[in-house]
Amino acid sequence: MSFSRILSEDDRRYVWHPFTQMKQWEQSRPLVIAEGEGALLIDSDGREYIDGVSSLWCNVHGHRRKEIDDAIIAQLGKIAHSTLLGLANEPSVELAAKLIEIAPDGLSRVFFSDDGSTAVEVALKMAFQYQRQRPDPRRGKTRFLALDNGYHGDTIGSVGVGGIKLFHGIYEAMLMPSLFAPSPYCYRCSLGKRRESCGMACAAQLEKMVEEHADELAAVVLEPLVQGAGGIITAPPGYLRRARDATRRCDVLLIADEVAVGFGRTGRMFACEHEGVCPDLLALSKGISGGYLPLAATLATDEIYSAFLGEPDERKTFYHGHTYTGNPLACAAGIANLAVFDSDRTLEKLKPKIERLAQHLEEIATLEHVGDVRRRGFIAGIELVADRPTRRRYPTAIRMGAKVAAATRPRGAIIRPLGDVVVIFPPLCITVQQLDTLMRAVRDSIEECCP
Ligand SMILES: *Cc1c(COP(=O)(O)O)cnc(C)c1O
Repeated sequence: MSFSRILSEDDRRYVWHPFTQMKQWEQSRPLVIAEGEGALLIDSDGREYIDGVSSLWCNVHGHRRKEIDDAIIAQLGKIAHSTLLGLANEPSVELAAKLIEIAPDGLSRVFFSDDGSTAVEVALKMAFQYQRQRPDPRRGKTRFLALDNGYHGDTIGSVGVGGIKLFHGIYEAMLMPSLFAPSPYCYRCSLGKRRESCGMACAAQLEKMVEEHADELAAVVLEPLVQGAGGIITAPPGYLRRARDATRRCDVLLIADEVAVGFGRTGRMFACEHEGVCPDLLALSKGISGGYLPLAATLATDEIYSAFLGEPDERKTFYHGHTYTGNPLACAAGIANLAVFDSDRTLEKLKPKIERLAQHLEEIATLEHVGDVRRRGFIAGIELVADRPTRRRYPTAIRMGAKVAAATRPRGAIIRPLGDVVVIFPPLCITVQQLDTLMRAVRDSIEECCP
């Protein structure tokens, strides 16, 4: 038996995969990735695929990017890990300073953790504790308002502000009771409006809820511009601004979860920049280390940070931290990743690729079973429907999105759908030629699967 075959079998025998129905997985032949190179993944049989999901939305400058590899190797020559509890370490200091330099104005402190979920947990706990410890304490402000179709991670606090029934419904009895405002999902507006004439009724609803619940709300948490896991739902321009203005007016904090959209994906370094918004707390992860190592950061304003200052026995300390908080290897990767943004002029070079993606999508939008095409910067979602005029969905048992994704594999691409939304989320380093191959694979697979 070939080595790759043994690996595939052992995977089915020993590994429990995330967000995966294992009964189905056990009957499949898992693809085992052995190597990567730029925007390509290479399996254990040596076959190449374009990494159309950026290895779950985190790879930025490619696999085996020399500068990032070298930075990690150099750091390995010094130390792999040392704690931030009671000590500092070199890479975490340098990365924190760089993050504050590029983050929206007003954010001045960096709290490190390990992944997107923990970055959000930290933000939620900071917001909650801030309301009790601010100079004019507001102990009644204990709740959170989030959006339908929102996704903030899989730990219990993050699930508590999650708005995706399929992922979050089953855990309801374990969760804190949050409030939910409608999703800015124009194609399937839950308010029954049409974009041309709605005056952004979903934003008005959010404003109304923030006003009505101001006394009990610690914070609003949302994904700026794009609700990722909810189905690449792109908010109308101005939505984020209105959320910021309403929260400020009503003395409610705004937590921006840029775990997915941060680090260039929308065409700017951070999505908040598009609408001149500074959140009170900013959650970052995924692209922060270039997609190399688990790392996350929660950025806070001075106003929040200073509410945690006091004598030890005043108990204003932020009682939170993880073993690998501020891990030097991950921070070294993060520093190198930011340096490559400069040396490669990543955002400038992204512009023509965004244009190219838009052209491909225009063509795909004309296909019979494509109901909606949504794009913000270099993130896109293609919503497949059984019937275009009525926007009728495919029966879930058909798993049309998964079918289309599977059909891209023999065409040399790896994508991962969200239900029947085909997600396009390539590394920013992808070449135009690779992008063409990826989008042709997507188009041909849609045509093949949805005749
Ligand atoms: C992926 C994601 C998270 C969770 O990040 P993990 O690293 O998977 O814990 C949180 N928020 C958003 C917007 C995400 O896309």
